[in-house]
Amino acid sequence: MRFAWALAVLLIVHLALASWSGHAQDPLPQLAMVAVQCAAVWMVFLRFRRSPPLIKMPWLLLALAALMQVLWAITNLLTTIVGDKGGYLTAIGVVISGLYMIPAMFMLARSFAQHEPRAVIVLDLILSCLVAVLLYQLVTQLLSGPLASDPNSVLVVIYHADAVDFSLAAMAILRMLGARSFRWRYFYYAASTYLLVNAIVAYVYNRIELRGLPWWAGSMVDIPYVMLIMVLMRQPPRLLRAYHPPLGVSQTIASFAPIMMSLMILMLGISVSRISFIPGVMAAGVSVVFYGLRVAIIQSRHLDMQRAVDLSTWRLEQQVGRDPLTGIANRAMLDTRLREALESGRKTGHYCSVLMIDIDFFKQYNDTLGHIAGDACLVRVAGALSSIQVRANDLVARYGGEEFAIVLDNTPADAAQDVAHRLITSIERLEIAHPNCPLGHVTVSIGIATQTQETSMDPTIILDEADRALYRAKSKGRNRLETADAAAPCPSSAQARFDTQGDAIP
Ligand code: GH3
Ligand code: MG
Ligand code: MG
Repeated sequence: MRFAWALAVLLIVHLALASWSGHAQDPLPQLAMVAVQCAAVWMVFLRFRRSPPLIKMPWLLLALAALMQVLWAITNLLTTIVGDKGGYLTAIGVVISGLYMIPAMFMLARSFAQHEPRAVIVLDLILSCLVAVLLYQLVTQLLSGPLASDPNSVLVVIYHADAVDFSLAAMAILRMLGARSFRWRYFYYAASTYLLVNAIVAYVYNRIELRGLPWWAGSMVDIPYVMLIMVLMRQPPRLLRAYHPPLGVSQTIASFAPIMMSLMILMLGISVSRISFIPGVMAAGVSVVFYGLRVAIIQSRHLDMQRAVDLSTWRLEQQVGRDPLTGIANRAMLDTRLREALESGRKTGHYCSVLMIDIDFFKQYNDTLGHIAGDACLVRVAGALSSIQVRANDLVARYGGEEFAIVLDNTPADAAQDVAHRLITSIERLEIAHPNCPLGHVTVSIGIATQTQETSMDPTIILDEADRALYRAKSKGRNRLETADAAAPCPSSAQARFDTQGDAIP
């Protein structure tokens, strides 16, 4: 509150001094104006210090832009006090007014996205500098040298300054409308208030100046700074909090901002080319090339990101369908693959077969050797089962516990039995020691079901058939296979079969 009072006093002092001296550009009124500007810079700087890290940079850039205006006003003040015989102060003033463009342009064109490529930031900075250089070039060419005597030169400079000021304000307003977070909307609200009022004041001031400044005209320059201070001191309008742009609008505006900057350089380049052809044309060319480069860098970054997303999606899909212990397919993938095989069998008449495989006496294996050894045994058995599978469309899955299932696409019953024989033999050959098993090593029993014309498309039905066949294989002595069609004679494979206690069945 005290700050507001001090500001009001400053404004009144500025007007009073201007009225007393009778001239807007006397040192004392100018000093009051610099004080008002400094107050605004200080307020923005305080906002910068209080902001969270991600939004610190734009506030700093706004403070820098306003500071450049203050420095410009100070050089004007010095010119009034000490004179400017060599024209150095005027030259410094022009440089500083050009430097103002760098932070102003940079804060409006940058996306400030968290993972913005460094090369894009550098390009934006170079383009912002280019705007400053072109403006400097235009002003110095028109206001000094042979063109200075042409009364139209001043008008041309004023028109360009207006175009640039209003473009900056338009960019700030656009960014405010596109900002999705309140903090950013608030920043662009403050920036657009300052830039728009600054553009309007400059527009009016420059035209008044052409006819000679009245004593009060200097106070007009205070207005954008006072507005900025008021925005920073008062509560933000409710609408600013309530407004939420759709994502599409926000992204379009964020990508449009750099186009505005390149367009501005292109226009300035064309203007400069009328005075100095080669630098102007080069600047226009650079704006187009840099914009293209910017788009190419962002596009290549997006392609990289897309590739990474595709890869992690693929990995996730793989993991979702996998059994974490054995790495083979899980129950969900088994159901999906089996349904496909059944549908294809129904359509083509090439029926599939399903094998249900269960490790014999596995509970005793765990009880004797422990669950860690049990897990290792499951992994080895899964590996052996997978190595038998040769065709791309077949699937080996862990059904649950120590049970596995294999879908054999387009496989009649006799071929499925051959595969089952091979599996029983290969598990035996692993010779995984099993102290409680009569053979002394791990064996498996297998139940086989083969699809027929009547088989349901529901995978659980054929799995149940295979499971019942497996149950028969267990009850007939284990380490063997049985087919779901109980009437069909089933060739035995193994040398020895055992009852539930592990005693040999003759
Ligand atoms: P059968 O010959 O009749 O198949 O007898 P079994 O002992 O193999 O059958 P049962 O169903 O009685 O026991 C299965 C055992 O498998 C019980 C459980 O301790 C074990 N098991 C199930 N899942 C896992 C697992 O993920 N890791 C380990 N180590 N053991 C498991
Ligand atoms: Mg079991
Ligand atoms: Mg078992």
